[in-house]
Amino acid sequence: MTESNLESTAATSEAPSSSFLRGIIAEDVSTKKFGDAVIQTRFPPEPNGYLHIGHAKAICIDFGLADEFGGKTNLRFDDTNPEKEEQEYVDAIQADVRWLGFDWERLCYASDYFPQLYEWALKLIGDGKAYVDDLSADEIRKYRGTLTEPGKNSPYRDRSAEENLDLFQRMKAGEFADGSRVLRAKIDMSSPNLNMRDPVMYRILHATHHRTGDEWCIYPMYDYAHGQSDSIERVTHSMCTLEFADHQPLYRWYIEQLGIFPSQQIEFDRLNLTYTMLSKRKLLQLVKEHRVNGWDDPRMPTLSGIRRRGFTPGALRALCAAVGASRTNGSTDIEMLEHFQRDDLNHRANRAMAVLRPLKVVIDNYPEGQEEFVEVANNPEDPSAGTRMVPFSREIYIEQDDFREVPPPKYFRLSPGKEVRLRNAYFVTAQSVVKAADGSLVEVHCTYDSASRGGNSPDGRKVKGTMHWVSTAHALTAEVRLYDKLFSKADPFDFPEGGDLFDNLNPNSLETIVDARLEPSLADAQLGQPFQFERVGYFCLDSDSTAEKKVFNRTLPLKDGWAKIEKKAGA
Ligand code: ATP
Ligand code: MG
Repeated sequence: MTESNLESTAATSEAPSSSFLRGIIAEDVSTKKFGDAVIQTRFPPEPNGYLHIGHAKAICIDFGLADEFGGKTNLRFDDTNPEKEEQEYVDAIQADVRWLGFDWERLCYASDYFPQLYEWALKLIGDGKAYVDDLSADEIRKYRGTLTEPGKNSPYRDRSAEENLDLFQRMKAGEFADGSRVLRAKIDMSSPNLNMRDPVMYRILHATHHRTGDEWCIYPMYDYAHGQSDSIERVTHSMCTLEFADHQPLYRWYIEQLGIFPSQQIEFDRLNLTYTMLSKRKLLQLVKEHRVNGWDDPRMPTLSGIRRRGFTPGALRALCAAVGASRTNGSTDIEMLEHFQRDDLNHRANRAMAVLRPLKVVIDNYPEGQEEFVEVANNPEDPSAGTRMVPFSREIYIEQDDFREVPPPKYFRLSPGKEVRLRNAYFVTAQSVVKAADGSLVEVHCTYDSASRGGNSPDGRKVKGTMHWVSTAHALTAEVRLYDKLFSKADPFDFPEGGDLFDNLNPNSLETIVDARLEPSLADAQLGQPFQFERVGYFCLDSDSTAEKKVFNRTLPLKDGWAKIEKKAGA
């Protein structure tokens, strides 16, 4: 738990902290800064990986604020980097945005603007504001200077407009090798802002683009493409994360030189979550190095990963609303997301009984061959969820942890001579145990009180423990996957020199149990349907399930760390 989090949640209970963005838009509406233009935003992912929880925040801001002001939002793929971008990512991103609950006005691609961007480059060259540079990438870096030293002009900086036009057209025609020349904006090599020291606008790259194929062998840089793409779409408020703040002068420079629609960039803080790493590039590395089982591994902080894990759009939107936006980067406790998730599931998840690590219990005085069905509420939080009939018989499974031959102090579950309640069924008392030759426990023998049917005390006598169970004859054997945090450090980037982020991976982030026993109603579980397995957590069916073998993911255990943290903080 970090201090900053306590503050940010306390603050959000009064005023949504994204109000500074809302304030800017409201002001622009009232001063008619954009005339009668509607508020237009965009969400601009690069299709070089799957979206993660951080993107959810940007999506909620871009779509949410536009919506509040009766505006519109485009989904725009920032696809100017053909070597890293793929159609698979384009498709996954669209599915993820929809899953979060948003729909775009227009689906756009920066690559649709390549011809227009090229025309504008010709104009800047003609106006003496851009030039072709023959320096190598290394030389350009050396000439750029540092934060404390000004840069030096390239010897090619004063080429005539005619020569620049000729060279740039030949760059486009494919006459030159990759890296041999670039087009640069002619701004100021001594600007205190390094981004303004004649930034590269175009590079030569003979690479096949996932949409434009081999049509282009020159590609615009992010800074040259982004603002103009905004302008083309008449984006009024182009919201992005703080690391782009230093790029804002350049964003404005291009728009001003070209005299096009004056889109404006506004920066807000990135979402960072403890025990989590939110960077597509690094997540790709996890996938490529097989440190996880793909982009949708339920331990991944990708939207596809947490969806498969059983997280819901409502919980993510609640998190984004609570953290809001500000102008300083901080870190949000992962428990806060888990808290919103439990809250959401508690209301919607039907209950079921499942035994993860089975121990057989025989009820000696229950008639052999008899079975009965006890009626159980599907969701005590929601009477409209109805009831179901759960089979009970002479042999049941309980959790291994729910029996101790020699109970420690304050152990209220089953032990020899102790009486406990089997949830919704009967009171039972442990009588004896059967052990294998090696001394390991095989089964526990109990007696039951037939007058306690439904789990109710027949004579006012009290039992302290209530346990879940599954009838052995009716049980469904299933695989259950339990997840822990992917990283074992709150800040995964906190690693010693010479190490790397992956040294902080939690080696115990996945535990697979192959022979859990589930109540039979779970045979009908559907993908996307949430369950609370009583006492063990929230679960959902995994897409690895087959007709023969069901696989369940634990979304979260029941214990709510965040509620405790809030209580302690007196919130
Ligand atoms: P990554 O480093 O994970 O690849 P990115 O910023 O390069 O992130 P983009 O595809 O360019 O990824 O991001 C699309 C939008 O999402 C941008 O406007 C970016 O500012 C925003 N965004 C990315 N990460 C976060 C985050 N952690 N919190 C809030 N917004 C984010
Ligand atoms: Mg990016």
